[in-house]
Amino acid sequence: MRPDILNPLFAETETLEGVGPKLRKPLDKLGLRRVRDVAYHLPERFVSRRPVGNLDEAGEGEQIVVALTPTEHRAPRSGRGPYRVLAQDNIGNVCALTYFGRASYTAKKQLPVGEKRWVAGRLDRYGDMLQIVHPDHVVEESGDTLARLCEPVYALSEGLTQPRVAGLVEQSLSRLPVLPEWIEPGQFAREKWPDWSDALKLAHKGEHPAARDRLAYDELLANSLALMLVRADNRRRKGQPLQGDGSLRAKLELPYHLTGAQERSVREIEGDLAQEAPMLRLLQGDVGAGKTVVALEAMLIACEAGKQAALLAPTEILARQHFETLRSMARPSGVEVAILTGRDKGRVRESILMGLLDGSIDILVGTHAIFQDSVTYRDLALVVIDEQHRFGVAQRLQLAAKGRRTPHTLAMTATPIPRTLTLAQYGEMDVSRLDEMPPGRQPIDTRVVSQDRLAEVVDGVGRHIAGGQQAYWVCPMVRELETEDIAAAEARYASLKERFEDEVVLVHGQLRPELKDAAMERFASGAAKLLVATTVIEVGVDVPAATLMVIEQAERFGLAQLHQLRGRVGRGSEKSTCLLLRGEALSETGRERLALMRETQDGFRLAEEDLRLRGGGELLGTRQSGDTPFRVASLEQIGRLLPLAHDDARLLVERDGGLTGPRGEAARILLYLFERDWGVQMLRGG
Ligand code: ADP
Ligand code: MG
Repeated sequence: MRPDILNPLFAETETLEGVGPKLRKPLDKLGLRRVRDVAYHLPERFVSRRPVGNLDEAGEGEQIVVALTPTEHRAPRSGRGPYRVLAQDNIGNVCALTYFGRASYTAKKQLPVGEKRWVAGRLDRYGDMLQIVHPDHVVEESGDTLARLCEPVYALSEGLTQPRVAGLVEQSLSRLPVLPEWIEPGQFAREKWPDWSDALKLAHKGEHPAARDRLAYDELLANSLALMLVRADNRRRKGQPLQGDGSLRAKLELPYHLTGAQERSVREIEGDLAQEAPMLRLLQGDVGAGKTVVALEAMLIACEAGKQAALLAPTEILARQHFETLRSMARPSGVEVAILTGRDKGRVRESILMGLLDGSIDILVGTHAIFQDSVTYRDLALVVIDEQHRFGVAQRLQLAAKGRRTPHTLAMTATPIPRTLTLAQYGEMDVSRLDEMPPGRQPIDTRVVSQDRLAEVVDGVGRHIAGGQQAYWVCPMVRELETEDIAAAEARYASLKERFEDEVVLVHGQLRPELKDAAMERFASGAAKLLVATTVIEVGVDVPAATLMVIEQAERFGLAQLHQLRGRVGRGSEKSTCLLLRGEALSETGRERLALMRETQDGFRLAEEDLRLRGGGELLGTRQSGDTPFRVASLEQIGRLLPLAHDDARLLVERDGGLTGPRGEAARILLYLFERDWGVQMLRGG
């Protein structure tokens, strides 16, 4: 149960004045559902402006305050263009004040022709005209006050404005409760950090590194602490030691030898499984490193010990593919492999449930359906989770509750994360790394091609297919909305279909499952030669005969994602090619990213560079999208503060494992504040 003291923070945003159903959507889009989220919606940056006498004194791109006198209002000619107010400074320079959409109403009111106004905003150029788009302020009196303002700039979504968000933030900050200090007193004094509520307030006011650090530290501490509690809890649990006699593994007829890294990982897993404490191990290995066979060996150990194993995949497609692979690999061993997904109903499902219960099924592969309440195992001893990063810690814990005794867990991930982040994400697990690729892989020939040359690229795909090979075509990512991604994919599919007819298939996230499977099957069997897709193929799909990959608007993808995508090719012995199509407007970072893709295929190196590219340019800790479990801490802060937080959390758990002392109580509040309360649940599990 969440401590009452936090209730005001966890009230919905609708309890804030001025928030009704209309604002709900834009707020949701920013992830601002509760008062807490708004209070933690920290500014992306701050602006301070320079007052200038006239526009000659100002540089392009500069934030300025200047006196301007409107001379003319220009409504858009067609319905859609911007509304422009032309205005002059005191030496006759003309500047356009440009407004889009409904903002033009404000312009009409605030900028009467012939009357001098102080205008604050960013000076830009449009063609050969100076302009300020959506001035931040327009006032009648002197601009001094404007110039002195240091204002926060918040991330917005359609329907929100800076002042609106600032107002909501202010309301949220006025509701902050007084919370006990959870940071270790020595540390707190040494760093000269403000206390929690002051830190939040300061962080909205200006650039206060100490405040930002403290808030980031809180988040890191909460995370470390929760993971530490999971780990401590796991050590106390009783699992079942599994001794395999090697009899089933000996029967496998693999067409290759395991790499050194694979052998080492299997040995590490074998060692864990023999212990009574349940295994909690992460198998980290780049795309194509050969994790599946390691998982199979682990599952066979469980079978040799007379128990069952289950493999959880994040998507239906991947579950089916794993099932096929594992079944055919395991065939010589005589082990029974079955699949269960949300789509299996009626009699099929019944018979699988029976088989699990009576133990005739040894290995079950599936989506989260394999852990529903109605699914009962005779003796589940090992859970393998593929693409671990798709699941949260909370989900993983749920799975662990399935066995009679706590099953061993092997999590697998192909996301090469930088070392600094491994601790943050998987701090509670032991790690095996597959840092060696199976032999005989040819490097993928990666090229960057301008989107202008689309027609040539399509011709190239045509030749490739005519030569009997297969290809992937990944459609542009339209950041925000999945539906727009799908629209783009469908449009591309339609145009490619004109040329390639039945040889092309389409797969995206909202396709009916039967259609999706049918398309995947046609591609995997070689009946279809070209697979057009949104990023759903990112995870795990394995078609060795596909040797060409085209990625549209590649600059929009992160390095890690491009790396994952590219990993779909280069799986067979044929030479593979990856074409990265780039749009016209390429940022410096975008350019560097694509160059790196061309230069290296080492996932861990790309992950480190990704971190550098995104970490470097950030002044303040803006929110990281999905790649780290953190919303407050920036990559730079993670690197600097996480080791401290980690040690602090360990000391706390060692001294006060039940979190019952005064600092322990404060730490519980912290866990709830950052919604790491699954950590608290561990305390009860005991
Ligand atoms: P991932 O780590 O991405 O899950 P997979 O398990 O799908 O990789 O393996 C990729 C490919 O490499 C598969 O086709 C698999 O048969 C092959 N493979 C795995 N291990 C070896 C090995 N030791 N030698 C040669 N090929 C291997
Ligand atoms: Mg895999």
